Amino acid sequence: MIKKSLLIIFSILLSILLSGCMESSNGFSGEFKSSENSTSGSSGAGNDILYQVSTIDALLQGVYDGVLSIGELGTHGDFGIGTLDGLDGEMLALDGDYYQIKTDGIAYPVSENVTTPFATVTHFEADENFRLEKPMNLTELEQYLDLNLPSENLFYAVKIDGDFSYLKARSVPKQERPYPKLADAVSKQTVFEYENVSGTLVGFRTPDYVKGINVPGYHLHFITANRSAGGHVLELQLENGTAVLDTTNAFFMELPTSGDFSKVELGQDLKAELEIVEK
Ligand code: ZN
Repeated sequence: MIKKSLLIIFSILLSILLSGCMESSNGFSGEFKSSENSTSGSSGAGNDILYQVSTIDALLQGVYDGVLSIGELGTHGDFGIGTLDGLDGEMLALDGDYYQIKTDGIAYPVSENVTTPFATVTHFEADENFRLEKPMNLTELEQYLDLNLPSENLFYAVKIDGDFSYLKARSVPKQERPYPKLADAVSKQTVFEYENVSGTLVGFRTPDYVKGINVPGYHLHFITANRSAGGHVLELQLENGTAVLDTTNAFFMELPTSGDFSKVELGQDLKAELEIVEK
């Protein structure tokens, strides 16, 4: 359980009028189905806030001690991804339920007292909604979603319910001090391959300009339809599904004020290491 005193608040409010951006998407035809815009322009972000604990570069550098409890994290969102204290598996939140996918591939419920060193969550609200009707691998899926974004400069929570003929996911083992860098920890990852599985992709698309803070582009975790297994997505073959995007125009980040985060070197470009870790 974490005290708020350990955290300082750093927030970036992107005051971008969604209404203008949404109009461009109306020009897209084909499978795209327009949807309700749950925000009301710039008059307050409301639930459309992406809430993040720590930074991806701190995680890459081995800052794995949990700093915020899942109970507290849950007040900031019912949907999201991350990891748990000591890099103990892949975390996924969907419909308000938080799961820990351990190296056995099984999705366990997470107790409110468990802490996270890195997580991104939001209160999910559907803004864009469209059918995915042709088979796509992960790269094709990402390209297809990009075509449907109102803007590449906003944040999106991404939820895809689908049938997958193939899905490759991984989880990482809990680490002990002294903590290795994430690229080294991931070399001990366990990979799971699912065939003909139905489930939900949960994650985010963040803009290129957040490099160092979050994962630019798509970062997706997976959980099966019966919520029993999953992992961090490495590859997939989607047969069909439904994509729902929550356009998010506010970003709120809380940073640890003590522990390893205080001393870690965060000025380097870790793009190459992020590539190793994500793929
Ligand atoms: Zn992940």
